[in-house]
Amino acid sequence: ICNDGVEEQHIFRSKHSPVPVPEHITLPEFVLENAGAYADKVAVVEASTGKSYTYGEVARDTRRFARALRSVGLRKGQVVVVVLPNVAVYPVVVLGVMAAGGVFSGANPLALAAEIGKQVKDSEAKLIVANKFTHDKVKDLGVPILLAEEGDDEIEGVMSWDHLLEASDRAGPGRHDEDYDKVEPGDLCALPYSSGTTGTSKGVMLTHRNLVANLCSSLFAVGAEWVGNVSTLGLMPLFHIYGITGICCATLRIKGKVVLMERFELRALLAALINHEVQFAPVVPPIMLAMVKSPVVLEFDLGKLKLQSVMTAAAPLAPELLTAFEAKFPGVQVQEAYGLTEHSCITLTHGDPTSKDYAIAKKNSVGFILPNLEVKFVDPSSGQSLPINTPGELCVKSQCVMQGYFKNKEETQQTIDQEGWLHTGDIGYIDEDGDIFIIDRIKEMIKYKGFQVAPAELEAILLSHPSIEDAAVFSLPDEEAGEIPAACVVMRQGAEESEKEIMSYVAANVATYKRVRVVLFVDSIPKSASGKIMRRHLRDNVIKSQQQH
Ligand code: AMP
Repeated sequence: ICNDGVEEQHIFRSKHSPVPVPEHITLPEFVLENAGAYADKVAVVEASTGKSYTYGEVARDTRRFARALRSVGLRKGQVVVVVLPNVAVYPVVVLGVMAAGGVFSGANPLALAAEIGKQVKDSEAKLIVANKFTHDKVKDLGVPILLAEEGDDEIEGVMSWDHLLEASDRAGPGRHDEDYDKVEPGDLCALPYSSGTTGTSKGVMLTHRNLVANLCSSLFAVGAEWVGNVSTLGLMPLFHIYGITGICCATLRIKGKVVLMERFELRALLAALINHEVQFAPVVPPIMLAMVKSPVVLEFDLGKLKLQSVMTAAAPLAPELLTAFEAKFPGVQVQEAYGLTEHSCITLTHGDPTSKDYAIAKKNSVGFILPNLEVKFVDPSSGQSLPINTPGELCVKSQCVMQGYFKNKEETQQTIDQEGWLHTGDIGYIDEDGDIFIIDRIKEMIKYKGFQVAPAELEAILLSHPSIEDAAVFSLPDEEAGEIPAACVVMRQGAEESEKEIMSYVAANVATYKRVRVVLFVDSIPKSASGKIMRRHLRDNVIKSQQQH
């Protein structure tokens, strides 16, 4: 408890000592530090094709790509939207953009052209990096395109990776390097999109220092035996902060190997785990559920697994699922983590999974506070900080807190208060041992299989339907996906569309994971005095009526 002289505040810090955060280093420098000593070691490999980059190649091509970007005119602070699945070149693209002083903004390659277009427009992107599969979605957005995979050069009017890098090599360092502003740790380097506590997706402004600080805090728990050795599963999408920071950059920092997969398919996953001797598999709960439930697992000799630890994050893990997983995969430690884009990734987690003492003592805890962070739980209505074992909104203060939402002062102020506390929109509490429990979410965001879905975006689509007068979107619990988007809809008089037709209408306008999966016709949408949709009320009523039937 800190007495700050004004009022007593209940502020909690990590039970672990603070860790140093280097002051004068950019993210690519931090991640590739010491890469020369591992030059021949594989840094990333695609599980399906075997295509790989060694540390020497990642470092070399990051430098080449950064120089090439400068030579085509990318300037410090300009955004590059990357629309790629988890391919081997992805980390080079990200590190190269950042090393050039640019800002990496990852887009979901499964999103529709219109959805990617929104991000490109909002972020004021100067370049799009795609491949021949995603090119179709970005070709009409009016922004120059670079195809990032070797051999992707047969599309007219589009820059190709090979040509760009070779042309830049031929030109040599040249004046572009001298002209260019030095990249500083306080500069923006990433702009992932998140809906935060309310509204639609917004650019989350993260600096090199934000991400370096997050890696320093989260890597403190990694056992020495993983350094230079660990093989990590890279299945989580690299456009999301969990994939790029928590998995890819973290593994490259400790000179492990990232085994990339483009999509989740259980047979391919189990084969990749075995063939690449993966020791550490960061996933989301629906993947653990498939590993527990699917008969496909029986086709594999699990004795060949080298898996030591599975980390689950991005959405709540049901205690029953944890128990079932531990029974099916004995000896594999399950490490839960909690994080959010606005905090540069991981915020709370368990300890070193390679340590013999390691265990999740309390099954439903998401772990402890990472070193260097301060945490408090506040009463959402009074703003008062709360003592142990008392649920409130989790707030975090650290060097990892975003700079704000891009071009959105109002939502930034609603999320980061004047004292610098990031309000997460999640409800939780801390117990006497320092274990934290997340028990609810008060922000609007829906998490479908760990992917963010913003109700406001789906409501706007529903309201664009000529037969819909009013609509509200909220989450319903679902065993497989964690949560699914559901909608209550008020139809105009005389409208004849069925629930199914309304679902199809939304489906035609959004990526698959954002689809509305339940539609209910209602007479009116409950709203508060200030006009806010009472989503919680709708959700509770629907759950209650489902239970009664
Ligand atoms: P994102 O910015 O997409 O990473 O989403 C962050 C949100 O995901 C958090 O604010 C939580 O609502 C949710 N979340 C992340 N990790 C966990 C976890 N371990 N348990 C429960 N919810 C989580």
